[in-house]
Amino acid sequence: MSQLEITVKKILDSLNVISDDLNPVEWIPKHRTIQPYVSINMSGKFDWSNTPYMKEITNHLDQYSPTQYIALMKGVRVGGTFALVHNGVPYIMSERPANIMLISANKELARKTMQGVDHGIDGCKIRHLMTKSSGVKSNSSGDTMESKSFAGGYELFNFGGQSIDNMRQVTASIIIADEIDAIKEKSKEGGSFIKLMGDRAKDAGLLKKIIYLSSPRLLDSSLIYELFLEGDQRVYYVPCPKCGEYIELVWNERNENNTRYGIIFDVKNSEVIKNSVRYRCGKCENEFAETKQLKKDMLNAGYWKPTIERENKTFVSYRLSALYAPPTMDNWYDFAIEYQKAFPRGGIKDDSRYQSFVNSILGMPFKPEGITLKSTRLQENRREYKIGECPFELSKKDGNGEIIIISMACDLNGWEDDGRIDYEIVAKSEKGATYSIDAGSFGTFIPKVEKTALEREGVNVAKEDSERIKYTYKLGVENSIWKQFEEKIALTYGKSERKLTIITIDVGVYKDLAISFVKRIKNMGYTVIPIMGADEEIFTQQNKTETGSIYQIAKVGDIYLLNVNVIKDKLSKYINSESYIDEAGQMQQPPNFMNFPEYDSKQNKYTYRNYFAHYEAEHKLVKKTEGGIDRYLWEKKRPGIQNHFWDVRIYNEFSAIFMTDLICSNSNPYKARNYKTQKITANWENAARLIKEASIENNVPLS
Ligand SMILES: [Zn+2]
Repeated sequence: MSQLEITVKKILDSLNVISDDLNPVEWIPKHRTIQPYVSINMSGKFDWSNTPYMKEITNHLDQYSPTQYIALMKGVRVGGTFALVHNGVPYIMSERPANIMLISANKELARKTMQGVDHGIDGCKIRHLMTKSSGVKSNSSGDTMESKSFAGGYELFNFGGQSIDNMRQVTASIIIADEIDAIKEKSKEGGSFIKLMGDRAKDAGLLKKIIYLSSPRLLDSSLIYELFLEGDQRVYYVPCPKCGEYIELVWNERNENNTRYGIIFDVKNSEVIKNSVRYRCGKCENEFAETKQLKKDMLNAGYWKPTIERENKTFVSYRLSALYAPPTMDNWYDFAIEYQKAFPRGGIKDDSRYQSFVNSILGMPFKPEGITLKSTRLQENRREYKIGECPFELSKKDGNGEIIIISMACDLNGWEDDGRIDYEIVAKSEKGATYSIDAGSFGTFIPKVEKTALEREGVNVAKEDSERIKYTYKLGVENSIWKQFEEKIALTYGKSERKLTIITIDVGVYKDLAISFVKRIKNMGYTVIPIMGADEEIFTQQNKTETGSIYQIAKVGDIYLLNVNVIKDKLSKYINSESYIDEAGQMQQPPNFMNFPEYDSKQNKYTYRNYFAHYEAEHKLVKKTEGGIDRYLWEKKRPGIQNHFWDVRIYNEFSAIFMTDLICSNSNPYKARNYKTQKITANWENAARLIKEASIENNVPLS
């Protein structure tokens, strides 16, 4: 103990605030009881054996520990917040009182943090240390969700989503920021949080502790990753139960001999086989499963080791994936399911889910790849069927089976009294491949870029523009644009006269007029879904493992909000998929392969300029936005570039996703008798099977 530390201890002793000399790792299990309403699995005396890796980290809270900065980059479920905040804060209040500042990304998270602290205060039986003027339910100062005063005249401040300015008014020697990457994304001030936190604790001198906790997000902008790199980058090593060598738990990697190791699993009918989830040791290549006792023993025999030597001994950093989570559930099996959803074996990687897997489970930052699309190859997918025809037989010949749904989607453009609706009708087959049936426009509005292009082709645009009939979005008038729409949706396909299965209409503009039309055709017996693109923010919650949510119902009206960024990711993969010849010499199309009708010189449709070029109008970029925060977004390559048929294909893709969920749900009135009460996993394969069986049961042929 240094002279200074001894002096500090003496001062604190003289204030009579130190009851005994236990460090946090000793104090917490002695005092903390976990209430059954906090955790059924863990209720009773707190026991480090569930999360032994948190012992070393939590002990830095000891006032005699020289550590001042602690960065923990973590996956979900590892118990980091529980140890450092829910138990750490009561320890500080009782054993080494000081002003404490907690920072969360938003009010809701701040409320949860304080709830956890309150459970800790009661679980450690130290409520009496809170200033006696108030109880926890009181809103008067002393003991509230925003702040608490406790013995010795100290205070706990709880911030959630406030601006930096609000925080400037307080000083604290203990500062804990939870989910710092989310705080950064939420804040316009961005990275200056780190400096702010340092400033708030400046007066605390050697008693200062600043703790950063977070799951990481994007590699280029992750604060927790930056802080992890700044420290000594500790990794938790556990003994392999087969060979006894110390290993870091990893997900499916390859060693120098190109052999797989880490967590591996087998798949049957695209589902993870539960008892196949296992760990293959990278040292001895033997395998073991995640059983409660084995994992507990392994974790308790583990230790932290820095992977880099640092001069600055006051800054320690840790990384901890969810693979280490306490063995109270089938963690590895759950993670294998997440992984299989994000990156189905033999299938296409779902970028959004994959990012969530990397961030929340592996506890690592995610590096997105930019995407630029080339639509020229899509033109090669023109097939031998006519525009306006639904190719029922071709789909069977291609090995894609029956046509399951026929969807129509449209996008509203132009002006209220000079409109243009761009639409596409798409058939989706049993195997998932699609056949575009028709794509075109109602109305005559000519966008400026289109005018320029036509002029270059020698068209007298001025003359055409003055002679054309303009169509309005108003209903029930002579030149209403919706008349042409109604004629189109009245068409049927094939000898069984199939109608459109689902229609989606973008009601983002001319909303009231569009909604009136939606109601009108709903009354005609069609399934019509009004949709709008929405900010991706409302869909992402990185603190959950389950993400990738594609649509939501808006708070007002029956409008569906689409996470278009995620659907664009999916569609971009379909554009790049290629057909192949199988062992039997038969052409095969991968799921979601896109087919188009043959070119017809008499119709100005499906040309490169007026159709296929729309598919390459956007690219995916990592974009710096306000506050220097990176976002991973699709955007137009140039302003004014035409992308309507790309948009309507996104809406048709949504239709397939929506129908899948509807058909597989128990509320589907058309569910075949055999499946009425069964829970069916929502995927296209199942949806197609259910529709086929319902068509047989109800004697309604699909073609
Ligand atoms: Zn081994």
